[in-house]
Amino acid sequence: MPLIVQKFGGTSVADPQKILGAARKAIRAAQSGNQVVVVVSAMGKTTDHLISLANEITDRPNSREMDTLMSSGEQITIALMAIALESLGYKAVSMTGAQIGIKTDNTHTKARIKSISTDSMKRALDAGKIVIAAGFQGINDNGDITTLGRGGSDTSAVALAAVLNADECEIYTDVDGVYTTDPRILPEARKVSQISYDEMLELASLGAGVMHSRSIEFAKKFGVTVHVRSSFSDSEGTLIVATPESDSPVAGCAVAKNEARLTLVGVPDKPGNAMWLFSRIAEAKIATDMIVQNVGLEGRTDISFTIPATDLTATLDVLNIVLDEIGAERIDYQEKVAKVSVVGLGMESQSGVAEKMFRAISKQKINISMITTSEIKISALVSLEDASETLRAVHSTFELQKTPVNLNKPETSSMQSISKVELNVAQISGMEDIVIESINLDRRQARITLPEVPDKPGVAAEMFERIADAGIIVDMIVQSCGREGKAMISFTIPRDILQKALNVANELTKEWGSIKPQFNAEVAILTVRGTGLRSHTGLAYRMFKTLADGNINVNVISTSERSISITVNDASGENGLQLLKKEFAAEIM
Ligand code: ASP
Ligand code: MG
Repeated sequence: MPLIVQKFGGTSVADPQKILGAARKAIRAAQSGNQVVVVVSAMGKTTDHLISLANEITDRPNSREMDTLMSSGEQITIALMAIALESLGYKAVSMTGAQIGIKTDNTHTKARIKSISTDSMKRALDAGKIVIAAGFQGINDNGDITTLGRGGSDTSAVALAAVLNADECEIYTDVDGVYTTDPRILPEARKVSQISYDEMLELASLGAGVMHSRSIEFAKKFGVTVHVRSSFSDSEGTLIVATPESDSPVAGCAVAKNEARLTLVGVPDKPGNAMWLFSRIAEAKIATDMIVQNVGLEGRTDISFTIPATDLTATLDVLNIVLDEIGAERIDYQEKVAKVSVVGLGMESQSGVAEKMFRAISKQKINISMITTSEIKISALVSLEDASETLRAVHSTFELQKTPVNLNKPETSSMQSISKVELNVAQISGMEDIVIESINLDRRQARITLPEVPDKPGVAAEMFERIADAGIIVDMIVQSCGREGKAMISFTIPRDILQKALNVANELTKEWGSIKPQFNAEVAILTVRGTGLRSHTGLAYRMFKTLADGNINVNVISTSERSISITVNDASGENGLQLLKKEFAAEIM
């Protein structure tokens, strides 16, 4: 019998009427011949309310007790939902995390799932009952209640769908699907019929927060088909599966508005400095985002990154200490910046996306102060006042408002269902462990750096357009923020077209009257690819540390949800690869 997991978020179960509405959706699924597991969140703003009660007593409540407190919200909903189903004539049973057997680690308030036992759920399902599971909660080895972090019910739902081998995991929410961008900012945004796990992960991390990121990591790891749809209508929502909606290079775009940019200027360019800086920042529990380290000139390099604007003072405090510790020159920062990103799996195989994006932004006379790229994402930092304008320009240049002509089918490939079965055998332990898919060394690359690019609108667009016109396909692009009206742009290209690319770069610097391009004809790119790279924050640090311990100097860095790439000198490439393989031996799939 097919099995379906339905998850209802807080707004979908905010009052008894809505709970009855959700119950009717579950009944409809049961009537069409499915076994049904319903996962619920706490009603409305209950969790916020519970937290504020504790905060009225103390601002440092004990985290074990916080979990006992917060988990009570979901316990109310499961009981009411079971009562609602029975009142409508259906057999149902409510289950807490402990009753199901959702085992987690000990990290109270942000626990990770270790294993889930399916016995009690299966028994109830086989007895013809609808199972109502409390989202967001589990128990640790001591039997203490734990919670999975705010928004964690999504993760509970997808995890249950994974262990039960469900045919689909429906996420009912107050939006009716995933959009090409936030429709509250751009009304022309389009609801997509389908989006790939990788694209969704990138968009979720950019704050296009329809779902908890960890739940999508789970879905990807176990091949769960996720269907995001509205609790308040019957329209089809968006499927999150392995295949993208179409072959278009861009699937969606997003803006992150409350950011600040910091630069440590004149960092001595030697192994370990970047690692030291980011370990200090991690110690202070500050989440860094766009990290850009450009190549060193005269033995010094600049390292820039963005952070949530609210962490600015705390970050400046850390940087002031690091400045002395590593002997950097000074700190530079910019408040009120926004990051606009485009995401698409199709970018991997199609060129020209970067220049198209830069061109659209430059047409609005908007200046880009930082650029980072990964295989499936390009991000540009602009000033906050230009944020919405930038988003609009980018959205329309890729015609995201139009339904693509050739839509893909959502079918999961046979490859995927094989790995799904295998993973389900191995699911019982380490459900949320990081999965490293591969560690690669690409020794076919060269790097060009333009040290003095005029820092004004349209320059990146012109530059990458001219490069594309010459038939050159660029791989990594990094623009560090400008100082004294100049920015530094580095990019990598295949070695065999280095000369051709250098010719274009030379022409450009001549026209700008700026310093000649520099290059390294033999760089290597080391890439660690996997799932859960961002939510397991220590990974980038371990990567930097491993290379630093091996005395390997890191040049350009670029990170995304599914990969971290670093360029090093070709001569260090092989050694770097071996060191990383050793470091991550236990996690490689
Ligand atoms: N009730 C929890 C929260 O508000 C979990 C969830 O809604 O997913 O964070
Ligand atoms: Mg929620």
